[in-house]
Amino acid sequence: MSAFGTVFMPEMALARFEDNQWTPTEFVPSDSLTLHPGAHVLHYASTCFEGLKAFRHADGSVNIFRMDANIRRMEQSTQLLNLPAFDQAQLREMIIEGVRRFADQVPDAPGSMYIRPTHIGTDAAIGKAAAPSENSLLYVLLSPVGDYFAGGGKALTLLLEENGMRCAPHMGVVKSGGNYASALGPILSAKAEYDADQVLFCPNGDVQETGAANFLLIDGDEVITKGLDSTFLHGITRDSILTIARDMGMTVSERDLTVDELIERASKPGAEAALSGTAAVLTPVGRLIRHGKVINVGTEQTFEKTVKLRRALNEVQWGQAEDKHGWLTPVA
Ligand SMILES: *Cc1c(COP(=O)(O)O)cnc(C)c1O
Repeated sequence: MSAFGTVFMPEMALARFEDNQWTPTEFVPSDSLTLHPGAHVLHYASTCFEGLKAFRHADGSVNIFRMDANIRRMEQSTQLLNLPAFDQAQLREMIIEGVRRFADQVPDAPGSMYIRPTHIGTDAAIGKAAAPSENSLLYVLLSPVGDYFAGGGKALTLLLEENGMRCAPHMGVVKSGGNYASALGPILSAKAEYDADQVLFCPNGDVQETGAANFLLIDGDEVITKGLDSTFLHGITRDSILTIARDMGMTVSERDLTVDELIERASKPGAEAALSGTAAVLTPVGRLIRHGKVINVGTEQTFEKTVKLRRALNEVQWGQAEDKHGWLTPVA
């Protein structure tokens, strides 16, 4: 099977902001893009993206999960990067039209069509280090993806990073390229030195998130995760899982969590921890590494609550449970 995100549909929806207006959406080949080598995005990282999925149901219909939440987040990223504002209705149509065009390529569950809207600044102006790009390009890539858990969904090992941070604290909510570049060095070191799968960024002991997923601690019937602030990415999977947890009668605590409290609670029997994100859905965390010492999360490692929450989310996405929060947009 090809690696996640390496297979693309041959066409993508594209619109340009030029001369102070958006061009109508067109469909163009998705294998190349012509950019000036001096384009703003290539030098000053004026780029943001989204990641969402379309699912095929047993009745053959194709449904996009929480599209409007992703579009709103993209609008926020666009604003915080001072890229030209786009028309949310146009992006909505670009996504729907694209998925419709390739509806027959949407895999059956547990596979899906991963959707990657991208917005980049295109001004050919290397003097604009401290000025925004006035022109931009918005496009929507489509990539069919298989079951992320095909390998059995093994529990992850996270290295706790208590000094460095993932990105500049005022950029945490922006889904932007530079933030991933900023986190890459620590992630590669954690892999090389500790064989860790991911780094859990906890600047000054404040448990935030990993490089591309949110972190949840599950202790009995309580789910604990950092409350929303500007320092980390507000995951839509995080929000969906918290909503489902509340629906199941669990207690949801959105608040600051220190590394000390995390270690204390994670070591107890029955404790679980998990990462949430569109690609990984909800992946169990089996081990935390602090100061070179490995701490097992819980004792049983059955990941019962994590699996239960993940299944409940998948059931909505796959059309096997009632969509009571109106999360699905049928498109084909
Ligand atoms: C995309 C992303 C997430 C998860 O967001 P979802 O909307 O759940 O996919 C979490 N953290 C970071 C840094 C991300 O880029």
